[in-house]
Amino acid sequence: MERERLIFHIDVNSAFLSWESVDRLKKDPTALDLRTIPSAVGGDASKRHGIVLAKSTPAKRYGVTTGEPLAQALKKCPHLMVVPSHFEIYVASSRRLLKLLEEYTPDIEKFSIDEAFLDMTETIHLFGEPLAVADGIRRRVREELGFTVNVGISSNKLLAKMASDFEKPDRTHTLFPAEVPEKMWPLPIRELFLVGGAAQKKLESLGLHTIGELAHSDPELLALHLGGKYARLIHDYANGLDSEPVAERTAMNKGYGNRITLSRDVSDMEEARHVLLSLAETVGARLRADHVLCNQVCVELRDWRFHSSSHQGALHFATDSTSVIYEEACRLLEEFWDRTPVRLIGIRTGKISDHGFVQMSLFETEQDRKRLEMEKAVDAIRSRFGTDSVKRASFLAKDSLVDHAASKHKHLGNQKGDPHETDTDL
Ligand SMILES: [Mg+2]
Repeated sequence: MERERLIFHIDVNSAFLSWESVDRLKKDPTALDLRTIPSAVGGDASKRHGIVLAKSTPAKRYGVTTGEPLAQALKKCPHLMVVPSHFEIYVASSRRLLKLLEEYTPDIEKFSIDEAFLDMTETIHLFGEPLAVADGIRRRVREELGFTVNVGISSNKLLAKMASDFEKPDRTHTLFPAEVPEKMWPLPIRELFLVGGAAQKKLESLGLHTIGELAHSDPELLALHLGGKYARLIHDYANGLDSEPVAERTAMNKGYGNRITLSRDVSDMEEARHVLLSLAETVGARLRADHVLCNQVCVELRDWRFHSSSHQGALHFATDSTSVIYEEACRLLEEFWDRTPVRLIGIRTGKISDHGFVQMSLFETEQDRKRLEMEKAVDAIRSRFGTDSVKRASFLAKDSLVDHAASKHKHLGNQKGDPHETDTDL
């Protein structure tokens, strides 16, 4: 019998919007606090292009949702204040949060830009009672960093993550196994981690509407409809079972990725390349911000039937260059995509290494070096003047499907099973 673990899941409330707001207030203490009005972080607001990357709680009341086109959000809420995204601010804010959390345990897994798991099993005795420690973390984040987080507490990652999603903002919740029937089973099935829209529909067609109903369903029947691996996973999850360890710090380097659910199906190579460039921009910026290089690029697709596929390739030399990642991604896409209309496109990078340990390969040309210098300059300009201050010419096209620096930054971490939809509420 395994010893009971103590896991905290930290989730930033309305992350992009809060970080944007904190940054504005830092520069101008009299600035409007975006969190208090209907507002959204989106792309090019003046042209009504782009999608909602994050919205304030008041905007949520108008029905504004993450991922919807800005034009649609503005129809729901005409006085919605839309501000452009500043990705570098978010990376820096995420880092500050992680630094604070590192004071509590060395066992941290950065799960996404605004979420982290802390294994507190070995260190909790240094700080006190779990609830009081969690409240202390929340207070420190609020007072020292200016934004708020939810803390979920349990004995495994899944339940801690479910707990942090309960009432927001700035709250601590527990969800220990004994509390599962009361706190988790009444919830609609969609609330369960890794249950996306497609799985929800299938489960509902089987008469399963709550997490409790799923927990008590026949695993064999589930496997018939959802595939064995995924069925087992969500059946376990519904029963509160998860034995995944909090990945060690080195495992945080597993990969940097980004994917986006598109507002319509894409079957055209040009459009798909456009999306890849947008994704490569954010992935490259994150590699550069963390001073690491990748040696591997993977393209993932999900088609309109929610069938997922991916294709990966090794690079000749380690890189953090947007252009290199983009070109490799295009090459991979050409190789494996049969033009089945897709709804989701993603880029993942892997085999991450530190700058210090990398021997620049002979394959690296002077042109590559210049390109990289240019990209670093762009990063610097963007961090000062905003993501929209520099754009690639191809994004100036009128009917742009995606923003030039796409949203949805999702580390899959050491997540197992089918990467079904994992819509993160940023
Ligand atoms: Mg969040």
